[in-house]
Amino acid sequence: MGPTADIAVIGGSGLYALLDGATEHEVATPYGAPSDAVTIAEVGGRRVAFLPRHGRDHRHPPHLIPYRANLWALRSLGVRQVLAPCAVGGLRPDLGPGTFVVPDQLIDRTSGRTQTYYDRGAVHVAFGDPYCPVGRRTLLGASAGRDVPAVDGGTVVVVEGPRFSTRAESRWYAAMGGTVVNMTGHPEAVLARELALCYTSIALVTDLDAGVEAGGSVTQEEVFRVFAENTDRLRAVLLDAVAALPADRDCPCGHALDGITLPFDLP
Ligand SMILES: [Zn+2]
Repeated sequence: MGPTADIAVIGGSGLYALLDGATEHEVATPYGAPSDAVTIAEVGGRRVAFLPRHGRDHRHPPHLIPYRANLWALRSLGVRQVLAPCAVGGLRPDLGPGTFVVPDQLIDRTSGRTQTYYDRGAVHVAFGDPYCPVGRRTLLGASAGRDVPAVDGGTVVVVEGPRFSTRAESRWYAAMGGTVVNMTGHPEAVLARELALCYTSIALVTDLDAGVEAGGSVTQEEVFRVFAENTDRLRAVLLDAVAALPADRDCPCGHALDGITLPFDLP
């Protein structure tokens, strides 16, 4: 039997570089190779798979990440719960750099990305609530009592990138109800749902987006700097959340495909 894991964290390699006893695994999928080798380690009694979303050398830009291969690879290892930290721009002046947000909604503004596994048959998953309610509660619990607890709820506007937003776009996203803006949250969330996985995001605000009153124009340097400064805080929240996630799923995510005839078997 090959390597197995219960939980996955899709995020930067800084999150797991220090774990003891980690092993690395190349995983093949019908959708090609995932972003990088998957690292598996035991954390808080759970087997956790870590996958660097952009690859360890950051070789996959947001619009070219092999999203389908990533989620398929994780499911084929046995993963059913996914925690997905990401960097975001704040669309509100009160959500400054260093703020954590556990979003509850998503608006897809990407284009041209493959966002389904099901190119045959009638497979329409519900996506009204794109994030796992139990995963959200667990991440919020893990961040409570820290110096800056995570904000409960918010809408992630996912843009195509790789460029940052214009000021007009940014003001528009805020006006239509967006809380933060990001380039990777979709199709990651919907592909997880299509595989009946629990998927929960925790967003780290690295900058105020271009159209926000107090913000300048976003630069890549600033985004990378703030993310690096907050890696320790993010890692602590994630490792606590991993240990606190219930082993038996009691949420709607695992039932996403109930009553639907799939054109092929899931791993
Ligand atoms: Zn769930």
